[in-house]
Amino acid sequence: MSLESVVVMGGGVAGFATARELRARGHTGRLAIIDPEGLPYDRPPLSKQYLMGTQDAARLAFEPAEWFAAHGIEVVHGTAAALDPAAGRVTLEDGTTTDAGAVVLAPGAAARRLDIPGADHPGVLELRTRADADRLRPHLRPGARIVVVGGGLIGAEAASAALALGATVDLVEPVDPPLVPVVGPDLARRLHAMHAERGIRVHGSVPVAITPPEAASPSLSTPSDGVRPAGGASPGVVPGPRRVLLADGTALEADAVLVGIGIVPRTALAEAAGLAVEDGILVDAAGRTSHPRVFAVGDAARTRLADGTLLRRAEHWEAALNSGTTAAAALLGQAPPAHGAPWFWSDRHGVHVEGVGRMAGAGTHVVRVEGGVPVAAFLVDDGGRLTGCAAVDGGLTVRAARRIIDRGIPVDPAQLVDPSVPLKKLAR
Ligand code: NAP
Repeated sequence: MSLESVVVMGGGVAGFATARELRARGHTGRLAIIDPEGLPYDRPPLSKQYLMGTQDAARLAFEPAEWFAAHGIEVVHGTAAALDPAAGRVTLEDGTTTDAGAVVLAPGAAARRLDIPGADHPGVLELRTRADADRLRPHLRPGARIVVVGGGLIGAEAASAALALGATVDLVEPVDPPLVPVVGPDLARRLHAMHAERGIRVHGSVPVAITPPEAASPSLSTPSDGVRPAGGASPGVVPGPRRVLLADGTALEADAVLVGIGIVPRTALAEAAGLAVEDGILVDAAGRTSHPRVFAVGDAARTRLADGTLLRRAEHWEAALNSGTTAAAALLGQAPPAHGAPWFWSDRHGVHVEGVGRMAGAGTHVVRVEGGVPVAAFLVDDGGRLTGCAAVDGGLTVRAARRIIDRGIPVDPAQLVDPSVPLKKLAR
């Protein structure tokens, strides 16, 4: 494999981190990032500060255009349509081709679509890209009625932003509470209860159809950018109000519907290229796909360990970043960087949530309560080791927990539950 030229397909955090790390580690050959949206930008603010209007589009970019020029990283504004791994040839949708000694696939994932009648209407939105956020934002205003389907990470963050901006919000989520595998049952209950406490109407059901409203009511206008809406209808169609029918018989009137029910990894191009795919582009621990010239990183990649074990796809920002730095090191034949236990964060209703490690599976759940509410949750395995921790407004606790997990320091559950014991003390 020649590294004279590396092409990265996708400018999310995984693709960007791969390119940045290649340069930081001394790669001097040609380096290009191909992305349909052009300049690589960061997604987490899309459901938080950007949606709230407290962070503008320019500040979403990982780096300004000048940085890419200064680092000799070409940003190709286009969509990769095909890959010929043997030739190292990438073909774009416009028919142009580019040849590379190594290709890194970082296509990310698409929002999972609701498979019910009416879900393809342009008033039914998703939130994966800046354009998606731009379509949603005009609806988040006093008096607007928003139905959010899915109470996972996107749904909770967007519902919270919509409420803060004055909209009336209905949240539809069949699982009560969601996010148990991510933060454990106690914090999941507390976080889910916050929606109703703040004034969101929570429905423990699923949508079965999305229809026009029963009586005509004035519709919100199409956002002025003229961008084709997410639902797949023709440009120019006005995304008017909708009526969301739930399985329990409830009918919800909505000016906009946001669906956040998970993601589907983008694997079609890899599959067509003959790479091994199984709910993700299969890679080894260093990001190598089944073709030696091709690597895959981020949401679309799924690790198969040397012993054949298939891991779950990691769907968090830091995991994507780490997969990029790992792949960059492997491409250059260098030792892999060390990464700590997987970590994520979320912001909703004015609280900051963080989690690290594994909070699901075998072990005992231990909860720290302050002022009558759970503030931190831990999972301790049968050998007395911490496997995971999540906390509300407890960044220091989670940071200390990560050190405890990474170092395999034994823990005493009695100390974990005691709010007078700073976790930092247990991490020494
Ligand atoms: P998610 O976190 O997987 O949550 C999806 C939720 O929707 C789950 O609770 C799911 O329940 C529920 N659901 C599934 N089908 C439904 C249906 N028909 N009706 C109503 N609810 C339904 O996915 P997401 O919120 O869409 O987020 C997408 C991706 O972005 C995820 O990979 C997430 O990690 C990432 N993200 C991360 C952050 C962060 O780290 N702060 C923020 C935003 C997004 P079940 O569990 O029962 O399927």
